[in-house]
Amino acid sequence: MNVFKDAINQLNQLGQKAGIDPEILQLLNYPEETLSAALPVRMDDGSTKVFVGHRCRFNSVLGPTKGGIRFHPNVTADEVKALALWMTIKCALVNIPYGGGKGGITVDPKQLTRLELERLSRSYMRAMADIVGPNRDIPAPDVYTNARIMGWMSDEYENIKREKCPAIITGKPIELGGSLGREEATGRGAYLVNELWAKHKQWQPKNMTVALQGFGNAGYHMAKLMQQQGYTIIAVSDSKGGILAEQGLDIESLYAHKQASKTLKAVYCYGSVCEEQDHTKISNEDLLRLKVDLLIPAALEGVITTENAEHIQAPFIIEVANGPITQEASAILEDKGTEIMPDVLANAGGVIVSYFEWAQNLQGYRWPLKEIRHRLLATLEQAFADLWIIHENEKVSLRHAAYSLALRRIAAAISSHGTQSYFMQ
Ligand code: GLU
Repeated sequence: MNVFKDAINQLNQLGQKAGIDPEILQLLNYPEETLSAALPVRMDDGSTKVFVGHRCRFNSVLGPTKGGIRFHPNVTADEVKALALWMTIKCALVNIPYGGGKGGITVDPKQLTRLELERLSRSYMRAMADIVGPNRDIPAPDVYTNARIMGWMSDEYENIKREKCPAIITGKPIELGGSLGREEATGRGAYLVNELWAKHKQWQPKNMTVALQGFGNAGYHMAKLMQQQGYTIIAVSDSKGGILAEQGLDIESLYAHKQASKTLKAVYCYGSVCEEQDHTKISNEDLLRLKVDLLIPAALEGVITTENAEHIQAPFIIEVANGPITQEASAILEDKGTEIMPDVLANAGGVIVSYFEWAQNLQGYRWPLKEIRHRLLATLEQAFADLWIIHENEKVSLRHAAYSLALRRIAAAISSHGTQSYFMQ
């Protein structure tokens, strides 16, 4: 399966159903620009190794392109393009003044030392310095990148430009102009979207069991808030596999243990004393098939496919990863009656707080955490309400409603631009 083709097929299918002008859909079948570059890095042993990095600006009609940079061995130009398309939909849906972009480096960052990682991050920014810009394309963290990496990259950009420019990148360390609340934003946003959904569905958190695939930044923050709300999280996994405990896992203890040992173990910590709890090991694949009330794929794209869609037992799925369910698998699940909260809303909290960070940087202000959280909630509430109206009135799936809303906004902006540029020679 080619992830970009899958993303384009889905866009065309949902776009046609939403009544989007075919000429506009055709424009959205092609990214505005994609740069792939060689990234030579001096390794600690003195040798030079060349990595490959990509940056795609998919569509900028609603504003400068925006999206993260991932470091992962499976990164390809096509994957970056698919993710940039989804960012275009996501930013339009939550109504922030951005187009969609994305970047990535094909690398296993766990194999690099800290200094090698810094050189690679700086090399990426040197290669991409002309495609990015505070009013052109603004990167941020994604899979296996974090605030420290954003800090190195913004420093590299400022060295090139010979001026301060914190708005070049978001998700920075607080000391370099990062925003309060950005670190937790994707997970908190997913939690808030889940709560808005729960209100409509009249879920009682204490009666709900949850399985979480992916215990990175987003998965951890979401699960922590959900547990506080009363949900029972019975299974959690990371890239190495997962654990299952029917009585529920304690997310904070699990996280502390993972930080210390890099492994997942069901532990309960009271103060400084931690006790191991009975648990079963479970593979990532089996976790997806558990009979739980809510399934949260929060790792990578394409984990639910035609191979396993039939076996998914959870009646509700909230997509915290980008693109965890292929288009065909989505159709199988919908036929079965599974309800899916789409990624473009569920994980939009990250880019929303990135927008607040960028706005603070441009203005030279710092907003308090309370204000960030309040604005995040307000933005998501509005997007959820807009989406729900289409979902109910047009009797379409949540993903369909999300694409309809986003594409109508993008289409309106494209037609407002006029056609002058098409006549120029
Ligand atoms: N990488 C995140 C996403 O996929 C955040 C992007 C951003 O903050 O620009 O939504």
